[in-house]
Amino acid sequence: MAGITLRNVTKTYGKGKQALQVIHGVNAEIADHEFVVIVGPSGCGKSTLLRMVAGLEEITGGEIDIGGRVVNDLEPAERDIAMVFQNYALYPHMSVFQNMAYGLKIKKVPEAEIKARVDKAAAILELGQLLERKPRQLSGGQRQRVAMGRAIVRQPQVFLFDEPLSNLDAKLRAQTRIEIQKLHRELGITSLFVTHDQVEAMTLAERMIVMNAGRMEQFGTPEEVYHRPASTFVASFIGSPP
Ligand code: ADP
Ligand code: MG
Repeated sequence: MAGITLRNVTKTYGKGKQALQVIHGVNAEIADHEFVVIVGPSGCGKSTLLRMVAGLEEITGGEIDIGGRVVNDLEPAERDIAMVFQNYALYPHMSVFQNMAYGLKIKKVPEAEIKARVDKAAAILELGQLLERKPRQLSGGQRQRVAMGRAIVRQPQVFLFDEPLSNLDAKLRAQTRIEIQKLHRELGITSLFVTHDQVEAMTLAERMIVMNAGRMEQFGTPEEVYHRPASTFVASFIGSPP
């Protein structure tokens, strides 16, 4: 397990005249086991920040620390993280079991260990009866759970979610939200969850980072952010009472 520390993190895309700074000195300490939501309008830099934590985007300035280790120069595979995207793709020709096991096979995890990890993840996600099915034989919600199962079996120190619910219909979105909460209660893996949806942020977050135009406006519990917004932007974005 591991906390995440962001120290004066900046990001500039492009060089010279084309340079565009999209993250401006973000500082935040996410505790071990904590579920933190990064929320803000489209284009404010949420994905960029998350992708820098994942190692999918280079850090321009500052430091990112995961579990007491500065990860700035580490490849994604060396960072002990698992990322859940909006557009998850399952392998259509593989069973649910094989889909969840695939990443571990590549890493040459022993067969017995793979089976144990997949069975445990399947039990948590209520996929135990579906392990032999192919993705086309699953509902949308079940497929979403297989995608999460693939992340769980890797036993990462940190989960990173980039708007995993935004392509789902309202019913499935609510279901998956509950699923993610249950997962967090059972595994307690430090999580960073990105969304542009205030309601989703308020329901999922233990604490939330509110972003605006590449800056962190506030970092606090949903109650603090709602009742004591740090700026007029936060108040209007969250819909705090005047
Ligand atoms: P969000 O996830 O909050 O919608 P992003 O992190 O995707 O925001 O984008 C933040 C800003 O950075 C936007 O202005 C976007 O156009 C810009 N941006 C994102 N990715 C790139 C890129 N690869 N090259 C140049 N600009 C980018
Ligand atoms: Mg985004």
